[in-house]
Amino acid sequence: QTTQAAEKTYVIGTDVTYAPFEFADKNNKYIGIDIDLMNAVAKAEGFKVQIKPLGFNAAVQALEARQIDGVIAGMTITPERQAKLAMSDPYYKSGASMAVSAKNKSIKSLADLRGKRVALKTGTAAADYALRLKKKYGFTTVTFDDSNNMYDDVRTGNSDACFDDLPVLQYAIATGLDLKIIGKPGKTGSYGFATNKDNPDHLDQKFNAGLKKVRASGEYKKIVAKYLGNGS
Ligand code: GLN
Repeated sequence: QTTQAAEKTYVIGTDVTYAPFEFADKNNKYIGIDIDLMNAVAKAEGFKVQIKPLGFNAAVQALEARQIDGVIAGMTITPERQAKLAMSDPYYKSGASMAVSAKNKSIKSLADLRGKRVALKTGTAAADYALRLKKKYGFTTVTFDDSNNMYDDVRTGNSDACFDDLPVLQYAIATGLDLKIIGKPGKTGSYGFATNKDNPDHLDQKFNAGLKKVRASGEYKKIVAKYLGNGS
């Protein structure tokens, strides 16, 4: 014990609710694929993490302001983010999808969004994707800080549709959210862990090294299966 050097603790920002990647359980403890993966990587690489559920956009801003050391939040690897931040190797495939109320019968494709109100989540890849389509399809947008408030706006009929990542929408719908997915997902990219390019410990490289280990050991698969079942 005496020979063991003290392990460094990194502060890692995450989303408030983005199941199955991060969410609070009944006891208000944070669980999810991202949380378990981050802990497994930290264990494999010999460091400690303190997880802070800040909200997605707030977490990214806190990272850019160097108030925290990293972000794991179902965060899509995009060229824009790679220009500003150090992003790890991809660990989960994703894409952005449109969803409407389960009762909605009139919206069957993007073309049906003309004149409609679309709810988006600030600073997300799905919001960027929708904003690129906004002019062509002629819809208006309103923004929210977290996915649940965005879904609520659609459920209550304030907004006609929303855009979020497919695995997150699928999980929410499978666990009772009364929305439905429309069409095929748009390509936005895979999830990665983010840190700053000037992170003194090259936390992105540590994450990549740990990710390799937890993939090789089978632990990655176990973590995903814990939340999504073995069919995933
Ligand atoms: N994957 C999306 C992004 O990176 C959304 C992440 C999130 O809402 N937590 O922008």
